[in-house]
Amino acid sequence: MHELTSPQEMRAWSRAERARNRRIGFVPTMGFLHEGHLRLVDRARERSDRVVLSIFVNPLQFGPNEDLAQYPRDLERDRRLAAARGVDCLFVPDVAAMYPTEPLVRVHPGPMGDTLEGAARPGHFAGVLTVVAKLFHYVEPDIAIFGRKDFQQAMLVQRMARDLDFGVEIDVAPTVRELDGLALSSRNTYLKGDDRRAALALSRALRAVEQAWRNGEADPKALQRRGLEVLRAPDVRPEYLELVDDQLRPVARADARTVVVLAARVGPARLIDNVVLGEGIASDVAVRTS
Ligand code: AMP
Repeated sequence: MHELTSPQEMRAWSRAERARNRRIGFVPTMGFLHEGHLRLVDRARERSDRVVLSIFVNPLQFGPNEDLAQYPRDLERDRRLAAARGVDCLFVPDVAAMYPTEPLVRVHPGPMGDTLEGAARPGHFAGVLTVVAKLFHYVEPDIAIFGRKDFQQAMLVQRMARDLDFGVEIDVAPTVRELDGLALSSRNTYLKGDDRRAALALSRALRAVEQAWRNGEADPKALQRRGLEVLRAPDVRPEYLELVDDQLRPVARADARTVVVLAARVGPARLIDNVVLGEGIASDVAVRTS
């Protein structure tokens, strides 16, 4: 596995591979890799000849009171996991390489970035889209894989690629969960003691909404009430639970394409999760991690 830290070297590597007619698949991450990230790597491998995985904890997408300083990091372990999964090139730039000058110009997400996570985390998606745009310029991938776990992010990246003609296919992969339903996240490492069990309220709330919809309830307000009932569990502080379409707009009636998105705090962790009603949590990938 190659390991590169400079954007210029990254671009040169990618261009040399493309000159040999190799299709490049790209998986951007913030590291502290788990099986959710590694499934994106598998998908990139299936659909391309060379896989690039980036690890960069992007300061631009963290608010002033968020967990940038505490965000978990373990490059040694990430390197081992990436190599074992067949990553061809690990790109690990530092902050100075990514932002040699203050990034005054940013990619603005538009109205799809103002709701849900965007409302809770002002400026977050401008930070995400800006770094993804920069990474796309270095890697020049044919295809980039994002997880549906971060549904709003995946939709915004898709929209950016289309609206700004990046010429890269954005593939969205299913959420990977623990066997008990908890969606894998690097932030799950913040869950200690009883918080780990309390965090199951998120997937339980999604399942409750899914069940109510399958039983014939289509009114989004009623479904939201049902979900919040379950999400309001001991040690869980719900932030939102909404039913939206693939443009993140509230729906008038829930149907198979409706996405239930939620965010909640459990102990020191702020967690998000979602389900597409017609697919259901059961269609996500379940893995044993310990
Ligand atoms: P992160 O390192 O958290 O920024 O995530 C990097 C990529 O991995 C993003 O496209 C995420 O949506 C994706 N990802 C994170 N957790 C999961 C998961 N549990 N299942 C599927 N994809 C995930």
